[in-house]
Amino acid sequence: MPTSDVIIAGSGPAGAMLARDLSRAGARVRILERGGETSGPGPASAPNLWKLWRRKEALYVAPGVALLRGMRVGGGSTVFYHTAISPPLEMFSRHGVEMAPDLAAVLAELPHQPLEASLLGPAAQRITAAARALGLPWQALPKMIDQELCRDGGCPPAAFWSATSLLAQAMQLGATLETGIQVNRVLFQNGRAVGVEGIQNGQLRRFMGGTVILAAGGVASPVILQRSGISEAGRGFFCDPLRIGVALQREDGHPEVELPMAAGFVDREAGYMLTDMTVPPNFYRAFAWTAGRVDMLAHYRRSMMIMVKIRDEISGEINTNGRVWRHFSAAEKTRMRNGMGLAADILRAAGGRRIFFSPWLAAHPGGSVRLGHILDERLSCSPNLHVCDASVIPEPWGLPPTLTVLSLAKHLGRILLG
Ligand SMILES: Cc1cc2nc3c(=O)[nH]c(=O)nc-3n(C[C@H](O)[C@H](O)[C@H](O)COP(=O)(O)OP(=O)(O)OC[C@H]3O[C@@H](n4cnc5c(N)ncnc54)[C@H](O)[C@@H]3O)c2cc1C
Repeated sequence: MPTSDVIIAGSGPAGAMLARDLSRAGARVRILERGGETSGPGPASAPNLWKLWRRKEALYVAPGVALLRGMRVGGGSTVFYHTAISPPLEMFSRHGVEMAPDLAAVLAELPHQPLEASLLGPAAQRITAAARALGLPWQALPKMIDQELCRDGGCPPAAFWSATSLLAQAMQLGATLETGIQVNRVLFQNGRAVGVEGIQNGQLRRFMGGTVILAAGGVASPVILQRSGISEAGRGFFCDPLRIGVALQREDGHPEVELPMAAGFVDREAGYMLTDMTVPPNFYRAFAWTAGRVDMLAHYRRSMMIMVKIRDEISGEINTNGRVWRHFSAAEKTRMRNGMGLAADILRAAGGRRIFFSPWLAAHPGGSVRLGHILDERLSCSPNLHVCDASVIPEPWGLPPTLTVLSLAKHLGRILLG
């Protein structure tokens, strides 16, 4: 088995950025990805709910609370909503990671402009006007969308950034990407990481490398570490829970083609973020059904939605079998209720009626292999072993994390190339 310079487990944004940057510097990089290829970047199309559970792209994190993630080449960036929120640099600085130059380098190569007014769909425009009339600082959100390619209020698939573009560059530079490999544990020799063991088509395989980087995401990286003897990993995590407020509007619209999270605002003090939202029809029907709103089942085309996402605490546990579990505290429930109250006010001010809310969901697992707790400022917990993904985030979060994990990957790349 040939030895690589670097083994990267996971091909999400962090793994892809590292693969590209390290290959560019001449390293022999091998990326091991559990999922398979997808059709490429673009706005999320209607996912089959059953397939999400089967592929473990949906998991329960608390009673009745489903967590969504992307288990495929490109990771979460192939299903995400392209909202580009900058990392809170002072949080990382407190833990010895100065990320400002890394963020600047990421922003220099990725689209991140606020969405142009012409790209806000009719429901997003109505919600924006209502929120502003209520005095809220509701603004178009920065998006990882190349808006120069967008015309007539819509964007072609090529306009939507995903980590697959970084992976393609990495492979052009000589990196290899192998799919269908579930990395299970890190191999050590004399206390140093020397490779990983994984399963492919039921066969145990070993991959040797000079440096091992776990970039398997906020749920899988702590599981791999636990199986490698680092038992503190996965003790506590956050998941940024959310609920979606739905209202009936007067006219028919086209929620299936409106860009979700077009505008909104983050209230860091209150600990929540509110934005307009659209979901595929099958999600809409599931929301109406679970809320007991049979009267709304047939009204997808007349729906308008606001997402309330809160900052939760770091608590609960991810165990060696990948079981993810936590409860939400009274303070977290109050925070959610406050955000929902505001969302309902905005929906009413926008002319919405028959308001109801989706069940709790979550889409940002992280904080499970924290900087300063398990990792040092080199994102390392053992010689030659690094972790780089949303699990590294050291404190309660509540923000879209993709720009942050990309900046962390730039940072680790700089350290490794040192
Ligand atoms: C519906 C939705 C909308 C979102 N919208 C936004 C948004 O607008 N803005 C934003 O910033 N963020 C958004 N996110 C979150 C964002 O997608 C993730 O936070 C981000 O992708 C995290 O990147 P990562 O590199 O940490 O891990 P991931 O993207 O989770 O990548 C991890 C990779 O590792 C692979 N893997 C897992 N286990 C193993 C294993 N054992 N062996 C090998 N490979 C493994 C996975 O298949 C995956 O490809 C959204 C998420 C969802 C679900």
